[in-house]
Amino acid sequence: MEDFNPCRYAVINEKNPREIVMLRGFGCSWRRCRFCDYHLDFSQDGKANSALNQKQLEKVTGIHGKLEVINSGSFVDLDEDTLALITKTCVSRGIGQIHFECHWRHRKETAPFRRRFAAHGIELKIKTGVETFDSLFRESYLSKGIDTDSPEEIAQFFDEVCLLQGLPGQTAESMEQDIRTGLAFFERVCINIMQKNRRPIQPDPGVIGIFARELYPKYINNDRVDILMENTAFGVGGAAEHAE
Ligand code: SF4
Repeated sequence: MEDFNPCRYAVINEKNPREIVMLRGFGCSWRRCRFCDYHLDFSQDGKANSALNQKQLEKVTGIHGKLEVINSGSFVDLDEDTLALITKTCVSRGIGQIHFECHWRHRKETAPFRRRFAAHGIELKIKTGVETFDSLFRESYLSKGIDTDSPEEIAQFFDEVCLLQGLPGQTAESMEQDIRTGLAFFERVCINIMQKNRRPIQPDPGVIGIFARELYPKYINNDRVDILMENTAFGVGGAAEHAE
């Protein structure tokens, strides 16, 4: 991959206070989402990944008792040394909750991971990028790779969802419907506003304007909703689109 040197550690003091680290894994195993170039942050060199990840995890203090771990794809794409280091870091810093991201295709791997971390007294909150509950739009336009149109089924495996808004074809009504569905079935909703990148799907400034005028004021004070108008809003990242 080309040079990518983002900020990888930050502390979020507002809603759902937590520390956040952006680690590097073997890479997203899906890589087909037509809006995403975030998956370019990966390496097949597990030792190099764990060395890089160790440096970031050393910064974690446990200040809020919660840690969010994001990486280029799903947390199951992290190497075993990094997973062990995450566990050790949480235990030694008194962190009882980890937020991870995971693609739908790995849904059946989530339960064993929940048990594995629970054995160390750590609860997992697993977030998945649904982007929209309109499955026709999602699969024919975004190529997200989720083969169900049932939010109930998605919620059997995941606690939180990411939505992608500001896309051509979205309306105030369709975006709000997605937010309402997300809030009805999941503990938290993270709304990512589409950012221009090297992939085919581009942000729609008109739709982003509608979001900013009509939906941002309605949901910005909702404690269960994060809104990322920029993809670096959590203080990590710097050259890519969000994902799970
Ligand atoms: S959005 Fe997530 S699942 Fe899709 S290609 Fe990017 S990293 Fe992979």
